[in-house]
Formats: sequence, C-alpha cells, structure tokens
Amino acid sequence: VLDTAFFRRWLDLAAAAIRREADHLTDLDSAIGDADHGSNMRRGFDSASTSAAYAAATTPGALLKGFGTHLIGKVGGASGPLYGTVLRRAAKALGEDGTVSPQALGEALAAAVAGVRRLGDSGPGDKTMVDALAPAAEAYQRALGEGAPLTGALAAAARAAREGAEATIPMRARRGRASYLGERSVGHQDPGATSTALLFTALHEAAA
Ligand code: ADP
Ligand code: MG
Ligand code: MG
Repeated sequence: VLDTAFFRRWLDLAAAAIRREADHLTDLDSAIGDADHGSNMRRGFDSASTSAAYAAATTPGALLKGFGTHLIGKVGGASGPLYGTVLRRAAKALGEDGTVSPQALGEALAAAVAGVRRLGDSGPGDKTMVDALAPAAEAYQRALGEGAPLTGALAAAARAAREGAEATIPMRARRGRASYLGERSVGHQDPGATSTALLFTALHEAAA
C-alpha cells in the first residue's frame, strides 16, 4: 500500500542512493556545470531525511511537502527549488489522504512534471531532469493503463527514467548552467536527469 511508511521508505532509499552516487553526480556536473550536483543533493537529502518534520509526518502529502520545503531551503543550486517543486506539487496533488491509490500517484507525478517544466521553463530535449522525469511519469501512466500492477508500473517508470537520462548524452543543453557551454555540452550525461533516475529506481525498490 502507498501509505506514509511507503513514501518514507522511498525517500530513505533515495537518500542512500544519492549518498552512494554523490561523487558520480558531481563528476557529471564537473563536465558541464560547476561540480556540485552530488554535494548539493547529498546535503539536501541527508538533512531532509533526518529532520523532525520528516519523522513526524502522518500523511504522504505532509511527508513530501515537508521534504520538498526542506530541499528548497538547504540546496543552494538550481536543483533545490526544482526538486522541491517536484515534491511539493506531488504533495498538493495527493492532498491529505493517508493512503494513495496507484492512479493518484500517477496524477501526482504528472503534476510534478508540470510544476518543474513551469518553474524551469524547460521541456523534453533541453537536457535537464525533465528528460528523465517526463518519460518516467508517462511510462508509469501507460503501464497502469495497460493493466500492469503497481510494481510493474514502477519498474517501467524506473527504466524510462534511466533511458531518459542516457538519452541526454547527445543533447545540447538549452537550460541551466550547461546551456552556457552550447555545443560543448554535447557528449555528457545531464547530472539532474541522472539523479532523477536514481529517485525512480528507489521508488521501484520501495514497492518491491
Ligand atoms: P546548479 O546548476 O545551480 O549548480 P545543480 O548542479 O545542483 O545546480 O543542478 C543542476 C541540474 O539542474 C542540471 O543537471 C539540470 O538537470 C537541472 N536544471 C538546471 N536548470 C534547469 C531548468 N531550467 N529546468 C529543469 N532542470 C534544470
Ligand atoms: Mg551544479
Ligand atoms: Mg551550483
């Protein structure tokens, strides 16, 4: 069931994955950015997942809203407000229900994508986290629509996020710091799309 414990399990697994992959994320950001994506994400996720509000939350919506607000406050980079918006938009879509249906999770993912696209003025093909997030949300909805069980739909979402992150390699960045490099951004995987793939892999693991 998609209850508060499930979403806490997800964010704990996500924080562990970010910690494990922080150096890799920073290496990716050193190629096309300012070499801080791993440390930004680790600082934000470690701090949010050990906060008092995180431990005290009693609904999925409250948990995600608190975590997102924490990220906005703790992460200096562009990724803080963007991931904060992902979680806060999802939280708003989930409302105050104690248990979330697989369909409601799909609607929350769609709302999160729309929120990031609006805040970042970014869309598919811009070589950002949107290139992992949008296909993951779509793959989840498609799989559910085809009758897949929750774990199957989350597996499809995680796969789409990883493929979406890899697909940023040949792209030329049009948003964020990497866009300053123009043509020289080609040939490198986007750090934010890579961290988004970690988050979806953790989401699948939380349900498995
Ligand atoms: P900063 O660029 O401020 O150092 P980070 O390194 O933590 O922040 O995060 C960089 C990531 O943020 C990029 O790899 C990209 O995925 C994402 N990003 C940056 N700008 C945008 C934007 N306008 N829309 C969507 N995602 C963006
Ligand atoms: Mg950076
Ligand atoms: Mg920075």
